[in-house]
Amino acid sequence: MSRLRKVHIKSFGCQMNVYDSHRMADTLAPSGYRETASLDDADLVILNTCHIREKAVEKVYSEIGRIRTAKEAAAAQGRQMMIAVAGCVAQAEGEEIVRRADSVDLVVGSQNYHRLPELIARAGNGEKVVDTEFPVEDKFAVLAAPERTAIIKRGISSFVTVQEGCDKFCTFCVVPYTRGAEVSRPVKQIVAEVERLADAGVREVTLIGQNVNAYHGEGEDGAPSTLGKLLRRLAQVPGILRLRYTTSHPRDVDEDLIAAHGDLEALMPYVHLPVQSGSDRILAAMNRKHSRADYLAVVARLRVERPDLAFSSDFIVGFPGETEQDFRDTLSLVDDVGFAGAFSFMYSPRPGTPAAEIDDQVPPEEKAERLQRLQAVITRHQRAFNAQFTGREFDVLLDKPGRRPGQLVGRSPYLQAVQVIAPRSLIGRIARVTVTEVGSNSLFGALSGEPQAPQLIAAGA
Ligand code: SF4
Repeated sequence: MSRLRKVHIKSFGCQMNVYDSHRMADTLAPSGYRETASLDDADLVILNTCHIREKAVEKVYSEIGRIRTAKEAAAAQGRQMMIAVAGCVAQAEGEEIVRRADSVDLVVGSQNYHRLPELIARAGNGEKVVDTEFPVEDKFAVLAAPERTAIIKRGISSFVTVQEGCDKFCTFCVVPYTRGAEVSRPVKQIVAEVERLADAGVREVTLIGQNVNAYHGEGEDGAPSTLGKLLRRLAQVPGILRLRYTTSHPRDVDEDLIAAHGDLEALMPYVHLPVQSGSDRILAAMNRKHSRADYLAVVARLRVERPDLAFSSDFIVGFPGETEQDFRDTLSLVDDVGFAGAFSFMYSPRPGTPAAEIDDQVPPEEKAERLQRLQAVITRHQRAFNAQFTGREFDVLLDKPGRRPGQLVGRSPYLQAVQVIAPRSLIGRIARVTVTEVGSNSLFGALSGEPQAPQLIAAGA
């Protein structure tokens, strides 16, 4: 039995990093590592970094500086603390990290973290280890499966990465360079993981990937699958009550996926479908490979299959060359779709991407003004979307204790957080809830009937 050691993992950015952080913890567990929420008593600190936001690299170095102080304090007490940098900044910066930050012992890319036990052993012998080459082996085939206790601790909703990487090369985005080409996991491997999660009490699975609907993993029959087929297969896993997927590319929404929205009760009627801009000129400059009309056609097609389907999206304002008219086209697209929510950002150049080289940058004050206007329109639609549920009934998957005693919080089919007075025994079950009040961040409701779904295995039991 290995000596018990503590690992503190700090995760930045998207759900894929959250998932990767869990899998890092799983893969370190057989070597005796247990997760700790405290940086100061950790033997190993992993920064799982994100490259998407502005000044991402500088933020990582300042975070490393903070951890170095904890490492020095540990050394003064005669304890060794190892620092590892993982994720997209690790992938992009590689060797540069150990050159600039002497306190870092190990740099591991997003495709290599299955090798962590071996890399940590090498770093423990004083070697500065950098492993960012894309490996030949499939990390998912090698990673240790999560322990049942770890799954239970993480709750009844789980992310499962089914696809990684991106071949789209939008001109503003670093993902194709940091995560590499599109790769999909085989159906069999994903089904085994979801069965294991369901067996430990997970009731909702969100399939994730940079371009999740470009999924084309090997099917159980040996032929390439699609996301639609994968969802149909996973809907058969006993215990799985709800399925979601994110993030999709409009160009990869195929008929199979659209039909799944009509057929599968477990597939929730909420789709995150980034559009970035409502202007064809800007969409072309972004190399999005779809037009405004293409996007609206996909939305309309999905709504034919599932009329109550709600959409969220991502927007970039102030992309180089964006005029007031281009921006107005974005505002009108928000009105046309009526998004239930959206993330919006000001364009900021990412070094190494084609858009960063364009001279025609929009002045910062103009970008800020447009962002405010866009967010006001998005908020108006979000409020209208939520307001329609007052007094209505829907199913809520009760997730965990809420903010107040006696309250549970759960998710509606449309991903809204719903606070309900309900006994803890209902965690992991779907309850019929009447919405009594609509707040700015969540809805409030009252139980209005017996929970529908049988509780197969209690989460937390
Ligand atoms: S589709 Fe575009 S924005 Fe999305 S990950 Fe790929 S390159 Fe980035």
